[in-house]
Amino acid sequence: MSTETIIKAAEAARAAIVANESEIEHLDRAIGDGDHFINIRRGADTIIALAPELDGKTPSEALKAIAMKLMSTIGGASGPLISSFFLAASKTEGIDAPWTAETVARLTEDGVAAIQKRGKAGLGHKTMLDVLIPVAEALKAGAAAGEDAAALGARVVETAAAGKDSTRDLTAHYGRAAFLGERAIGTVDPGAMSSYVIIRAIVEAR
Ligand code: ADP
Ligand code: MG
Repeated sequence: MSTETIIKAAEAARAAIVANESEIEHLDRAIGDGDHFINIRRGADTIIALAPELDGKTPSEALKAIAMKLMSTIGGASGPLISSFFLAASKTEGIDAPWTAETVARLTEDGVAAIQKRGKAGLGHKTMLDVLIPVAEALKAGAAAGEDAAALGARVVETAAAGKDSTRDLTAHYGRAAFLGERAIGTVDPGAMSSYVIIRAIVEAR
């Protein structure tokens, strides 16, 4: 069941990435090198193409297989970061038990911590983490409070949108946009945009 959930999420993410191609592409052209759309679409394609192999695997096995495959398929700075999310998620406590809101909160928290560890960036550094860190916190708080799924989903989407918007007024400290200094101000970070688009799609597909 949960391995199916992973595939379903990847399919929702892929559709949303493609639907927002020009927006994501435009942002990475403006403050990066323009390949972010290609990188994340390739990531989603890789997971979907892996689906037959994942069938029958436990979530921990499936997430680990995805991490390994993503490492060699997504390029750029985001490849190893996204791969580390999946590898950490594969080791999350209780990942092979039926998934609850707590499981999703825990795997997100572990995955986001791994991205921070790998990339050394944090909140306010104009990266995908400006979406992912607050979303992980919102999930954790909502799951702990026993918030119902619809309310938690809405809160997560709102939190992701606010995090994405917050990157507009920041200067970048990591990735290619860091070379632009003040000139990156006024443009939303592409990784924050794609994270928002993906999270919204996953919540809506649930
Ligand atoms: P590249 O920068 O190598 O072209 P991508 O275009 O695929 O790779 O990804 C760029 C995105 O990766 C940025 O918009 C940012 O959100 C994210 N990013 C870059 N460096 C880091 C980092 N150290 N920690 C977290 N996210 C990062
Ligand atoms: Mg790029």
